[in-house]
Amino acid sequence: MITSETKNTSLNDLIHRLSGCSGAHPHEHPRDLSVNKAQEIIAQFIQPIHQVEKIGILQALGRILAEDVISGMSVPAHDNSAMDGYAFAGDALSETDESTYRIVGAAYAGRPFQGSVAEGECVRIMTGAVMPDGCDTVVPIELSDQVGDTQIKIPAGRLQAGNNRRRAGEDLAIGKTALRKGKRIRPADLGLLASLGIAEITVQRRLRVAFFSTGDELRSLNEPLDVGCIYDSNRYTLHAMLTRLGCELIDMGVVKDDPILLESCFRNATESADVVITTGGVSVGDADYTRQIMSQLGEVASWSIAMRPGRPMAFGKLNSNGKSAYLFGLPGNPVAVMVTFYFFVKQALLHMQGAENATPILVPATSKFPIKKRPGRTEYQRGIVELNAQGELEVSITGSQGSGILRSMSEANCMIVLDHDHNEVHAGDRVKLVLFDGLI
Ligand code: AMP
Ligand code: MG
Repeated sequence: MITSETKNTSLNDLIHRLSGCSGAHPHEHPRDLSVNKAQEIIAQFIQPIHQVEKIGILQALGRILAEDVISGMSVPAHDNSAMDGYAFAGDALSETDESTYRIVGAAYAGRPFQGSVAEGECVRIMTGAVMPDGCDTVVPIELSDQVGDTQIKIPAGRLQAGNNRRRAGEDLAIGKTALRKGKRIRPADLGLLASLGIAEITVQRRLRVAFFSTGDELRSLNEPLDVGCIYDSNRYTLHAMLTRLGCELIDMGVVKDDPILLESCFRNATESADVVITTGGVSVGDADYTRQIMSQLGEVASWSIAMRPGRPMAFGKLNSNGKSAYLFGLPGNPVAVMVTFYFFVKQALLHMQGAENATPILVPATSKFPIKKRPGRTEYQRGIVELNAQGELEVSITGSQGSGILRSMSEANCMIVLDHDHNEVHAGDRVKLVLFDGLI
């Protein structure tokens, strides 16, 4: 039998092909799927959206470019001065003798010198001012000696022809690709677009993401906390992570472990969003109806992933009244929610918007202390990384690493990633980590 490689590949086919499971029982899902395989299955199953919109660049931070931006002009448009000083023709500079130039005028940024400059002449010039005709070199004020009001002297051997001149087009030449399709717009990109005079760009439309928490024990903020209940924190971390990804949020609140309520909520979410994210109810407890309802509404795999935290996770596609949405049924434990979001959902949401590869960069560091680790699963430990006296990165874990201990995430500034086959870590071993923050 030929397995289809096309867009319509079913989730089951993909799972069987990529996880190496036999196809004998098409509805049997693999146990303890590795993180890499799960990421691969998600990446192949999820299809990018193709709707785009034109927006002003001030609205574009974090959005994903839907087409290349080609420069319609050279930046800078003219050769100009990199320093405050005097501009002149550099070919007469001597290595052995000092040179003298007569000042014939001044050039300011935005107010060019109008005439042309002959041999032995120079123009007082400010940073950013257009180089006058006949000039290719600028001597900075501090390297020149002014003689009266009309002349300068430049000591021998301090300067070469062409120094301190910025060339037209050195930032960006006309006709060149300034930004590539798939780029997530960052502050520098907004500045670059503005420097090209571009006020609007075409970006992928924002993804609509519906999310809700499931569990009888969950209370929302401002509700009384009955005995045995806890506040729902997952919806707040999800809200924050999805906001940073630039998604349009549909916050559907807390849903009780009740099959009828759950089904109606899944249907609403599927009919109004591109992606549905839930937390809780995907393990095998008695009240975990979430899994059951999800599988009734679409093609959903219930995974046990070889990872810690975050083992149970559901993934697939839901259908309701002719609409469909991708589903991520994340675990209930707050740290597991964040870990599965960062290492599965985030990439998938970016991929859906046609973003360039968004795999996080792993940075090497030395572990200050031993870390327990069992081979056969990927572990994500919350860490604090700092520079030691030798200027090298050293990391230690943030106390208790239980998957319910959200404080471990809050105190951490990085996540230590211990690969599937990694054994326990000894003090002084090299480990890999993902930093939480870079520059803003
Ligand atoms: P579950 O997978 O539904 O059994 O949930 C696993 C654990 O995570 C339980 O201790 C839940 O109380 C906890 N949990 C589930 N959802 C949330 C939530 N939204 N906020 C905080 N803790 C939660
Ligand atoms: Mg629950």
